[in-house]
Amino acid sequence: MSGPVVVCTISGQHAEASEEVGGALTLGRRIAAQRGVELQWLVLGGGSDAAVDTARAQGVASIHRVSDAKVGRGKSDAIVEAVAQFCVATAPGVVVLPLDFDTRPLGARVAGRIGAAVVMNAAAVSDSGGRLEVTAGGYGGDTRGVYVVAEDTPCVVGLIAGVVQPETVDGGGEPAVHDVAVDLSAVDERIRVVQAASFEGPRLEDADIVVAGGRGLGAQENFKLVEQLAEVLGGIAAASRPLVDEGWIDSSRQVGLTGKITRPTLYLAAGISGATQHMVGCTGAKTIVAINTDPTAAIFRYARYGIVGDCVEILPELIRASKEKLQR
Ligand SMILES: Cc1cc2nc3c(=O)[nH]c(=O)nc-3n(C[C@H](O)[C@H](O)[C@H](O)COP(=O)(O)OP(=O)(O)OC[C@H]3O[C@@H](n4cnc5c(N)ncnc54)[C@H](O)[C@@H]3O)c2cc1C
Repeated sequence: MSGPVVVCTISGQHAEASEEVGGALTLGRRIAAQRGVELQWLVLGGGSDAAVDTARAQGVASIHRVSDAKVGRGKSDAIVEAVAQFCVATAPGVVVLPLDFDTRPLGARVAGRIGAAVVMNAAAVSDSGGRLEVTAGGYGGDTRGVYVVAEDTPCVVGLIAGVVQPETVDGGGEPAVHDVAVDLSAVDERIRVVQAASFEGPRLEDADIVVAGGRGLGAQENFKLVEQLAEVLGGIAAASRPLVDEGWIDSSRQVGLTGKITRPTLYLAAGISGATQHMVGCTGAKTIVAINTDPTAAIFRYARYGIVGDCVEILPELIRASKEKLQR
């Protein structure tokens, strides 16, 4: 008999009402149902009132809150210790950790502490006759492999944040809420965060319309065309990674494997080639429109509407046409 499925999130880093957390819990619920075990939610850092509502909507059996002051954003040693102590006590079969910049290094450390297997960059997870099957990206997202975890082997799964769309359950029962006592007296953080990343404004993850620019824009000054079209359409400007690396736009606006996953109604990609690592972040869009000078560009395989042409000429036309249409 395998142990519970535990989804593990960090308060203040993973908003308890967010799509990323909802998606991780939905995935956890599906695995738990396949295995006939409970879904538990380990909230590191206490959590907010929203956690109970989310837990109810996601069919979580119990919330386990760790409120020790040593646990929180950027406190990796304390988090690893707290999760390890919780896992030793509850013997989970699967631990799901939504991945981001801060949690990425934690999966292997937790697995090492509890003697579990670990699979990172997971895009899909299911149970097949008692064995966990994890589909995960490899080689920087260029390929995907299916990992089959041996029966009765606990596994830590690092889930690509936002890859699973949350689905709520009707009539979810009231989750039990437990405060978990952990002993972190021996923890002395070895890594100090001197400046935490911060960003204010609308999030790509919530956007309905995204206009994204890529290296095909040619020059930084042309990125303002992307921003203008986004503004006219009431959307958000975004970019492929090279533009972020060049410092044209903040990293919070990068779409892709190492950026954000977005599922807007409209995703307009200007001068973007359609590399796998980029498309991971936007294939959930309802409609993709691509502008590219190269008719063989990979992005056209994903686009419902494609314009073969120079985006620096076409974007001003789209801005003008959109303004006209909206004024009518
Ligand atoms: C581990 C790893 C993680 C990565 N993570 C990400 C990620 O999260 N997000 C991401 O975006 N990338 C990521 N990358 C990089 C990714 O592999 C690509 O290199 C990147 O997406 C390419 O960006 P691009 O399409 O803007 O540029 P390019 O690949 O250079 O493509 C530019 C495109 O513009 C077209 N073009 C040129 N001129 C014009 C013009 N005037 N008008 C219209 N079209 C024009 C070209 O035909 C071409 O298709 C990652 C790579 C690795 C190895």
